[in-house]
Amino acid sequence: LEMKTILDEAAIRRALTRIAHEIIERNKGVSETVLVGIRTRGIYLAKRLAERIHQIEGQQVPVGELDITLYRDDLTEKTEQPEVRDSDLPVSIHGKTVVLVDDVLFTGRTVRAAMDALIDQGRPKMIQLAVLVDRGHRELPIRPDYIGKNVPTSQSEVVTVTVAEIDLQDQVMIRK
Ligand code: 5GP
Ligand code: MG
Repeated sequence: LEMKTILDEAAIRRALTRIAHEIIERNKGVSETVLVGIRTRGIYLAKRLAERIHQIEGQQVPVGELDITLYRDDLTEKTEQPEVRDSDLPVSIHGKTVVLVDDVLFTGRTVRAAMDALIDQGRPKMIQLAVLVDRGHRELPIRPDYIGKNVPTSQSEVVTVTVAEIDLQDQVMIRK
């Protein structure tokens, strides 16, 4: 079992600062922007992006949360499907540019479930996607707009993301 560090604390800090600048530049400001973090670690990353955007632009960007968990559909197939279990959006997303934030993008099924939920809750003008790690292996036509790092992986490799808020330190590792 081999663990290799892909991003250390400084690299994560720089990647989030760059993504904050990219979000501001791509959207020509953030007055119509809402960040939405996906369940555990995406929420902390979204909050950090909002802090940085505030430092750079002097503007508060609302941060919402989506809790997406795997749901086993026993009646049809023995496969797990991501399902939105809960959402907490502080403002209406109608007409807004929503930036979804997650730690790792893999097949794209979680993001698809997130997009369905957002579209159900009021029609956003646009949905963009920010991820700390894109590990490849997409099964849907989904690509991130903002990427911390592209990490080519095999199917069996697992990316471990830890964040200081709950895991004591910031780190991204790959387990072979
Ligand atoms: P997807 O739905 O794209 O297959 O998987 C993305 C979701 O599963 C994300 O919410 C992400 O947190 C989690 N995930 C998928 N693969 C990995 C991985 O290798 N490492 C970590 N930490 N999370 C993963
Ligand atoms: Mg996740």
